[in-house]
Amino acid sequence: MATNTGKRVALVTGGGSGIGRATAVRFAELGYSCVVADIDESSAKETLRMLQTPGIAVQVDVTKATSVEAMVTAAVQHFDCAFNGAGIAERATATIADTTEDEFDRVMGVNAKGVWLCLKYEIAQMLQQEPVMSDPAKWADKPDVCRFRGVRGSIVNASSIAAHYPTPMHAPYGASKWAVLGLTKTAAVEYAKEGIRVNAVCPGFVDTPMHHRNMEKLSPGEKEKTESWHPVGRIGAPEEVAEAVCWLCSDACPFTTGEHLKIAGGS
Ligand code: NAP
Repeated sequence: MATNTGKRVALVTGGGSGIGRATAVRFAELGYSCVVADIDESSAKETLRMLQTPGIAVQVDVTKATSVEAMVTAAVQHFDCAFNGAGIAERATATIADTTEDEFDRVMGVNAKGVWLCLKYEIAQMLQQEPVMSDPAKWADKPDVCRFRGVRGSIVNASSIAAHYPTPMHAPYGASKWAVLGLTKTAAVEYAKEGIRVNAVCPGFVDTPMHHRNMEKLSPGEKEKTESWHPVGRIGAPEEVAEAVCWLCSDACPFTTGEHLKIAGGS
């Protein structure tokens, strides 16, 4: 699905685990150098060792402006793609009345504020970069596409299928993923004419450490229901999300911005 776009650089937050790790691996397979960023530097380094292309591992806390700014500075070698994948779920399920303020702030801090901070510093850096024509021959007979394609950069944010349905017992997580959709659409419109595309992926249940931690909170019956919730009858693999992220970042879709792509087995 994704196209090989040659020598480019991709920044991946949450790159030490799950969907972020699979996305860094796929970017590298497509020839991108990667900046693998995670709150846990050792897991980011572990991902880096799995890559076929050179890259760097960076420790980042996406809830802290100084940390995100430092990550972007470390990645400053003209990165033109970013996947903002860092995210967390609640420690335990709870109704709204039983959810603590601390838990709401914690989840919103990583999932919503974290994406906003990443957008803020990534976009500021992209705006300083000269537009790149990585494959001018492909669009030679379509000058309008060349003029308006995402030549400065492309950013994909991790939202969730939870932003398409109510999320009883998971209000902070659901709210944070709806917020990601709002940020995505707003950034897409604000920077469309600057050659920066911003899209979101909305995965269903995906087989990652986060999913396994969530499943441990459920009873066996609830767990079974969750696993078979998607019409295709299974949960997703992180590589299936990674493929869509890399496609959204590639030159294959210059007219695609502000989209929320569900990757959820028909849900
Ligand atoms: P994961 O395996 O837990 O990976 C998330 C990574 O983000 C972890 O390495 C985590 O580190 C890191 N992280 C947490 N807080 C951070 C912070 N403040 N700064 C930087 N990095 C931080 O989760 P995943 O399932 O791959 O999820 C990736 C994204 O997809 C998340 O945004 C998630 O909400 C979204 N998503 C997942 C699913 C699913 O079913 N798996 C479905 C829909 C959407 P620690 O492990 O040390 O906390």
